[in-house]
Amino acid sequence: MYPNVETGGDIFGQWLPSGECAIRHVIGPGADAQRSSVTFNQSLAYLKAASEVLGTKQAFHIGDWHSHHRLFDYPSGGDSRTCAIAMKNNNKAFFVLVIANIRDDVATNLPYVQISAFRYAADAKDPREFVLAAVEFIDKAPDYSAVHAELENVRAGGVLSLT
Ligand SMILES: [Zn+2]
Repeated sequence: MYPNVETGGDIFGQWLPSGECAIRHVIGPGADAQRSSVTFNQSLAYLKAASEVLGTKQAFHIGDWHSHHRLFDYPSGGDSRTCAIAMKNNNKAFFVLVIANIRDDVATNLPYVQISAFRYAADAKDPREFVLAAVEFIDKAPDYSAVHAELENVRAGGVLSLT
C-alpha cells in the first residue's frame, strides 16, 4: 500500500529538572530491527549495547524516533501506547517521541525531512497523552567520532569494548 518502509531508532540524552531534554545522540536501526510499512521495532540487542556505550558518556535512553514517511506528522494510537508502556516498564517519568516526515519544499520542490517532537509524562492523567515539544538545534557538538566507531562496531555485532 505504501511504497516506503518505516525506519527509526532511539534517542539518548538527559532530562533537565525543567522537563526539557537535551538530546545528545540519535541511533538508527540495529541489524535485526523489524520493519514494515507502518511499524518499526528496534533491535533490543542493539538498544541494550548502545545504552551501555552511551551511558559512559552520560547519554541515557530518553526516547525513540521513527519515520511516518509522507503520512501524518503526529503519533499514532499504537505509538502512544508504546511510549506509555516504555515509561511504565522502565520506570521513566518522561519519554520523547520524534516523528520524521518527508515533505516537499513548495518553493524549490526539493524534499526535506520534517522533525516533530512529542513528550509523554508518566504522571499525566492518561500517560498516552502527548504534548508537541519545541525543538531547538544547538550546534556545539563535541568530537564523538570514537563513540560513533564504537556504536558502529556494536551495530555490526562486534565485541563491545569499553575503554
Ligand atoms: Zn508511528
